[in-house]
Amino acid sequence: MRLINELRQNLASALAEWKSGWNKLTVHIAHHPLLTDINAQYAESMHYVQADRLTFNVIWLHGLALIGLVLANTYFQAPIVLPSPIGWRVILPEEGMVVIILGLAATLLPLMVYRRIKNHFLWRLIVAACLITFSYLFVFASGGAIEMHFHIFIVLAYVSLYADWRVGWFAFGILFVLHSLLSILAPSWLYFYGRNDLSPLVHLPFLFLMTIFTTVLCQNYRGSVSALDAAKHRNDEFLAIASHELKTPLTTIKGYTDVLRRKYKRQSDATSLAYIDKVEDQLDRIIGLVRDLLDITRARLGQVEYRKEPVSVESLAEEAINAVDAFSHGHSIEVRGDKRVLVCGDRARLVQLLVNLLSNAIKYSPKADRVVIDIKAARDKVVVEVQDFGIGIPLTDQDKIFEPYFRGRTQQREDVPGGLGMGLYICREIVKRHNGRIWVESTLGRGTVFSFLLPLPRPGEECQ
Ligand code: ADP
Repeated sequence: MRLINELRQNLASALAEWKSGWNKLTVHIAHHPLLTDINAQYAESMHYVQADRLTFNVIWLHGLALIGLVLANTYFQAPIVLPSPIGWRVILPEEGMVVIILGLAATLLPLMVYRRIKNHFLWRLIVAACLITFSYLFVFASGGAIEMHFHIFIVLAYVSLYADWRVGWFAFGILFVLHSLLSILAPSWLYFYGRNDLSPLVHLPFLFLMTIFTTVLCQNYRGSVSALDAAKHRNDEFLAIASHELKTPLTTIKGYTDVLRRKYKRQSDATSLAYIDKVEDQLDRIIGLVRDLLDITRARLGQVEYRKEPVSVESLAEEAINAVDAFSHGHSIEVRGDKRVLVCGDRARLVQLLVNLLSNAIKYSPKADRVVIDIKAARDKVVVEVQDFGIGIPLTDQDKIFEPYFRGRTQQREDVPGGLGMGLYICREIVKRHNGRIWVESTLGRGTVFSFLLPLPRPGEECQ
């Protein structure tokens, strides 16, 4: 009995040791520089969001093209009427079904996993694997056309879009293994004329050179982006220091204008009071711009701290309306919807977000007299809309307005005061830091709706 107990204990401790070793190994592998996203810090500069959007479209189009090819070479029996590089032989309906199932898997897999995958590198590998799958499905569905083999080169060129040299080599590896296997196991799938025993060897130098070429391309692109990012970082650091240095004397001047205002008031000196009003107006404008500049540079340098607490959207709206009241030029601001909803956020930053949206709504609707804030709460999120009835934003500007320092074409109008194009970038940063998103809908000449979504805390969830 003792022996069995000892044996069990030894087994349990050996198992625990093996488990902890395995865990360490998986963590080590997952964090290995060859498997992590080497471009994570450049994702924005490399326009990964746009690249991913393009990839989705490319994949959908591949799926459609494949279905068309299969239909042409099965149901319509195109190769009988017109033997061509898109159809060398009629494909059996069962073969067509298998091709379509594999094609659907290659189309849907990237779509299904995109949001779930945290490491973007893994997603790039999946995209490469799916595109290669399409290469072979095109070759097969065309009855082994040589021309369809060219698709592989397009894939190798396409994946360099992500400026990650490893994806090219990954594609090269699977291409070589798959091609070698298929040319042994099913050569007539690859070539309409049948066996081509040396094809993997002959393909090798071409694919190898192509992969070297894409590696150089990726590294060059990465180098340029990293140099540009370093320059931007230095620029931001300079702007952060400069705006900080500017802010201090401006605040002091503002203090003295307050003293002067009180003095002129006591002396009932109306002329000097009018002058000091003008000085203060301009001073407030400069202080506002310097504050925005400081905010934008700090946000870009990741130096802004957020202190989150439960806050009601109504109180945020009230505070923001009070802040813009001074320059609202007779606009009335109506708040409607689920006013009492509580969000978890940094009060000052969320007020700043609303102030920016409201002041734009007022600034860009010189001929209108109202702005509407609509609060729409759901179970797990709240969407706040700020609607104006002003000049609107041209469609071509709409996806650029959240970029830093972007100023729209509307800025050229005489009835609209100028800005520096920082407000909406700051808004996007604030929303992003609250795990939300912001977007715009606008019709030129009719008005604009800026909407932002904030997730709501789950019941019992701490606000931090
Ligand atoms: P700024 O207003 O200082 O130029 P923003 O970042 O706040 O900077 O806005 C960027 C651009 O978006 C503006 O130059 C303007 O063309 C456009 N814009 C922003 N809000 C509105 C709005 N409510 N209506 C029309 N255009 C707007």
